[in-house]
Amino acid sequence: MAQVIKPTSRDQFHIAVICALPREADAVTLLFDEFWDEESDPFGRAVGDVNTYMTGRIGKHNVVLAVLPGMGTNNAAASTASLRSSYSNLKLALLVGICGGVPRIDDDDVFLGDVVVSKAIVQYDFGRQYPGGFEIKNTIEDSLGRANKDIRGLLAVFETERMRERLMTKSADYLKQLQEAARRKRRRAKYQNPGAIQNKLFLRDYIHQHQLESCDTCSNVDSSGEICESASKASCADLGCDETQLVKREVFYPDDGGFNIFIGRIGSGNTVMKSGKDRDRIAAQHKLIAFEMEGAGAWDEVPCLIVKGVCDYADSHKNKQWQDFAAATGACVMKAILDRYVVAEGAQGSALTQTNGKSVQNNTRSISGNTFGNNVNISQGDMTWNMK
Ligand SMILES: [Zn+2]
Ligand SMILES: [Zn+2]
Repeated sequence: MAQVIKPTSRDQFHIAVICALPREADAVTLLFDEFWDEESDPFGRAVGDVNTYMTGRIGKHNVVLAVLPGMGTNNAAASTASLRSSYSNLKLALLVGICGGVPRIDDDDVFLGDVVVSKAIVQYDFGRQYPGGFEIKNTIEDSLGRANKDIRGLLAVFETERMRERLMTKSADYLKQLQEAARRKRRRAKYQNPGAIQNKLFLRDYIHQHQLESCDTCSNVDSSGEICESASKASCADLGCDETQLVKREVFYPDDGGFNIFIGRIGSGNTVMKSGKDRDRIAAQHKLIAFEMEGAGAWDEVPCLIVKGVCDYADSHKNKQWQDFAAATGACVMKAILDRYVVAEGAQGSALTQTNGKSVQNNTRSISGNTFGNNVNISQGDMTWNMK
C-alpha cells in the first residue's frame, strides 16, 4: 500500500516547476495534490538564494515551484542558478505558463489554449546581425536546447498517437479538476475557454495600430515598423482592428472540453515576439512552433522542458482574454506529463513510497557529478547507485 511521505530535506525533490508570472503559478498551484509548506517553509534555501518557493506533491512527485522575479532569459538564468544551488538533486525542470504560438504547424491549425511542449529550445535572438541576415550562434543541435536523454525518451513516447491521445484526455480531465478547484476557492482568474468566436487570428501583414483615429506614429508604421505606445497597450476592439482582416478558418476544440498538444522546437528570446511577419519568417527558418522568453536562460543551468499554453499568436494584436485559460491548459499538460515521468531508479524522494518496513534514512548522503548530466553517483551509507 502506497503512502504519502513528506520529504525531510531539499535533496528529496527531483522535480521543479518554474513560472515567469504569478498568473502562471496560480494555475499550477490548483493542481498540487498537497502542499508541504502550508504552515511554514520547512526546507529553507541555500545561502545566497533569494528565490521564494512553494513545495508540495503533484501525483507521485515532490515538486518545488519557483516564480521568477520577471520575464526574459536573463531573469530565468539567474533564478534557475539559485534554484539549482538550493535544490541540487533536481532531475527535471518544467517551465510552465503561457506563450505566443505559431498559428499553423505542418497541416494543423493552432488555436488559443492549445499547448506546446519543447523538443528543443532555440535561442533565436542570440547571434549577429549581418547585412545579409541574422546568424544565430547557438543552434539547437549544439549543447543548448536539445533535451537530455531522459526527457527525449519521455517525449518519444508522447509522439506516438496512442500516448498523445492519452496525454490529451488526461490533460482535459485535469482542466475540469482545475476549473472546479478554482470555483471552490473563488479564484478571480477565468479558467473557462473564452470560446471560438474570441479566437481571432489576423492576416500576417495586418498591423495592430490606431485604425480609426489619426496618429502620426501609427500612420508611419510601414516605414518605421513602430506603433505608438498607447496603441501597443490598447486592445484590438479599442483600436478598431478590422475583422474583415481575420484569417478565415474553422476553430475547433475537442468535444471533451480539451485542447490540442504540439511537440516541437520552441524559440526563446529576450524580447516579446509581436510581429506576424517576423514570427512567420523566424518560425520557418528554425522550424519553430512557438515563442517564449525563459527557456534559453533556464537551460543554461538545468535541462528543462517547456510546457506552455498558447495565449496569443505572437503578432502585434492584443487581447488578454486567453491568458488565464492558456495558463491553465499549460499547467494541466505539465501534470499529465509528470504522471508518466519516472525518476531514475535508485533516486530517493518520490512522494509515494512503499511502506515495506524498510525506511531509508537520508542522513549520510553525498552527491558527486552533474545531477542533470548522464552519470550521477549517490552514496548513501554503504550503498552506491550509479544513475544513468
Ligand atoms: Zn497610434
Ligand atoms: Zn489589433
